[in-house]
Amino acid sequence: MQPTHTRLLPIIMSILVVILLVLSYILSTQISSLNALKKTQTSIEAELQSTKATLSAKQSEYDSLYAVHAGLQQDFARAEENNAELLSQLDAEQKKNNDFENQIDDISGTVGKLDKLSKIDPELLKKYSKVYFLNEHYAPEKLTEIPHTFVSGDGVKEYIHFKVTPYLTKLLEDAKDDGVNLLITSAYRSFDEQGGLKNAYTVQYGTGANTFSADQGYSEHQLGTTIDFTSDEINGGLIGFQNTKAYQWLLKNAQRYGFTLSYPEGNAYYVYEPWHWRFVGEKLARDLYKKEIHFYDMDQRTIDGYLISIFD
Ligand SMILES: [Zn+2]
Repeated sequence: MQPTHTRLLPIIMSILVVILLVLSYILSTQISSLNALKKTQTSIEAELQSTKATLSAKQSEYDSLYAVHAGLQQDFARAEENNAELLSQLDAEQKKNNDFENQIDDISGTVGKLDKLSKIDPELLKKYSKVYFLNEHYAPEKLTEIPHTFVSGDGVKEYIHFKVTPYLTKLLEDAKDDGVNLLITSAYRSFDEQGGLKNAYTVQYGTGANTFSADQGYSEHQLGTTIDFTSDEINGGLIGFQNTKAYQWLLKNAQRYGFTLSYPEGNAYYVYEPWHWRFVGEKLARDLYKKEIHFYDMDQRTIDGYLISIFD
């Protein structure tokens, strides 16, 4: 009989071998799982690297986009500045353009006015005095005969500047409608007629004629725009005209037809001539009436400003 330990040895050895086998199996599986883990770690690390690289690429892409954006913002600000500059330049240009158009308008307006003015006889609104008088050859542009029903004296023909005709006709007709008998005793007188008239007055009144009859060339009658009125109330004469209804009517209404009294009471030129009315245009006649002054009270430059509208 073998001793117990000798019998047990192969069992123990077998057990040991089994244990060794089990251990080596466990070890080998551990090693292989460690290897697998290592592999996984490497691949995670690689993935991480690639993610980092991607991120860094994204970051640099973002940086460059940001730089582009900042650049664009600057460009935009500059463009806005340029735009504002351009707008103000455009404004300035438009203003210049408007000014230019206004100038053109002014110029064409001025040309129109000059053209209109060039067609109006400047003598029609001149003051006549001992120092300023009409040339002996001066004659109105055109005369028309005044309807005989308004002329005092049988067979007498009186003439008036053709452009004053409509104003005078209206005045005479309106006075008639108001029951006022206005007649004309003298209208246009040529230089020679005025000379003849002055001579006749001088023969009759001596040097006293100077106070009421203008010398040749000084007379407003030579213009063809001036009228000596009379009335049946004084049998077609001149004396006492200031006391007639006809005169009162003229004082109140003549300005509406462009007529004004040349020589009122107390004037520095001639004696009071209530019968003597001159056509100066509605605008000037109304202004004189409103200001309660007379033609010869106004300075010539102011009067000249009315020439353009004399027949308006
Ligand atoms: Zn007169």
